[in-house]
Amino acid sequence: MTDIKKQLRANGLGVSVHAKDNIVELSLLGTAKPLIAREILYKALNGLEPFFTVFIRGMPFCFMPDARDHILYRRRAGFHILPGGAGRSYGAIRQCKACALRTLCPGIETGSVFYRELRRTLRPVLAVPNEIVFELTRRCNLACRVCFAGRTGGGQPLSRLMTALREARRLGVKDVRFTGGEPTLSRNLLPMLKAARALGFYTLVNTNACGADSVLLDKAAPLIDNVLVSLQGYDAASESRAAGVKGLFSRKLANMRRLRAGIRAFRLGTVASKSLLRNFKAYHALAVSLKADVWEIYRPMPAHGGTGRPIFGKETMTAGSEFDLKAADMKRLSAAIAALEPGGPPSPGLCRAGPRVLLANPMPLCLMPAAERRNLLGAAFDDGHTRLVHDPRGFFKPSYYIEERLGDGIEQAWNSDYMRALRSFSWLAPRCRACDWLLKCLGGSRFQAAAGGGNYFGNDPWLPKERA
Ligand code: SF4
Ligand code: SF4
Repeated sequence: MTDIKKQLRANGLGVSVHAKDNIVELSLLGTAKPLIAREILYKALNGLEPFFTVFIRGMPFCFMPDARDHILYRRRAGFHILPGGAGRSYGAIRQCKACALRTLCPGIETGSVFYRELRRTLRPVLAVPNEIVFELTRRCNLACRVCFAGRTGGGQPLSRLMTALREARRLGVKDVRFTGGEPTLSRNLLPMLKAARALGFYTLVNTNACGADSVLLDKAAPLIDNVLVSLQGYDAASESRAAGVKGLFSRKLANMRRLRAGIRAFRLGTVASKSLLRNFKAYHALAVSLKADVWEIYRPMPAHGGTGRPIFGKETMTAGSEFDLKAADMKRLSAAIAALEPGGPPSPGLCRAGPRVLLANPMPLCLMPAAERRNLLGAAFDDGHTRLVHDPRGFFKPSYYIEERLGDGIEQAWNSDYMRALRSFSWLAPRCRACDWLLKCLGGSRFQAAAGGGNYFGNDPWLPKERA
């Protein structure tokens, strides 16, 4: 850490560490050369983020759009207090029209280097989604108690998927992900991966690693940058209980090892359950033995989205079920994750003993102590905040669970009424507007808000009462 601090300070960047809360604050000082400082900041962020919550001060979001959730930029009154009070003036620039944060942002301070020298080079935040998720099929070879997929259900013809892929390329989307159901059961997986690779996308695949034969995996692996394998159990018995199918665990283990060896980023994902709470150490030991880079633990989603339409066909969060977890249960999980590093995070640059363990799916970050919030992914990847999901029925929706038909094309969906309402941020609870974690947390889950109160733009039911 001392070396990182020295390098940052030598380049006009301020560093302060709040060890108790595992927070590092970086700031651009007046002496910095902004373009050089930005390169260094991105590198510092990559090194520090696995260990700390990192906040960055002294720049508008559009100076580092890929780090927007770390930037504490003083937003319009009502969302945040402007720095220096009334003495400063802010102006919109051309890019603001396309910027997803324009309702939070006051514009660029007109006396600043960003306005005087850099305003033509700034990029709007999320003018298009970062990622398109293709649900290639609804079909799955497992019957996981917590999942929405079924044994049947087709997908879109390859030609329609290719049209959507080309639209994503034309718009400048960076990542594409293939999922299902179980995507290895779709004959479109390999051609889509090949096309995505040829078009220069970063490619991700979600799989249960039980369905594919080794030949398919060997063909697919070189085309995948990042794989996420669902880990339902920690041994053969718990896996077959959760997945509803017996006798596949040894095949799954072999396939996971094959994927680990062939793909750069290897992640595991488990829906939180009472079994996971009871057997956390056994699950973690398996994740360590599989040499996973990341193990994500998901907040369970209820069987309906509050819209009156059933979403899941199986057991999910019915009262008293395996997946009926309360906020207190997630707090216990968060504490168990923190306890994996009893002395706090290891120094940046040193290796972790096992995978990075994260709580995923949106939930209010303020449920957890500040020191544990570095282990929460927040809402940025869900609810439509940064990505769209292509449903097997041929339309785009905001997330796996939110079954709103936003449109048949990416541009149409990204500019639909739901997405405009989402980006208005007018629905945020008053406390959220002034919260430093806002752009990571985004006030919790829109899906859970609908499940709890019938309205996507209400409060997440887990929002602590004093913050509502
Ligand atoms: S609203 Fe405008 S000034 Fe603010 S981050 Fe977006 S592009 Fe930059
Ligand atoms: S944004 Fe809102 S819900 Fe999230 S941590 Fe802040 S106050 Fe809590």
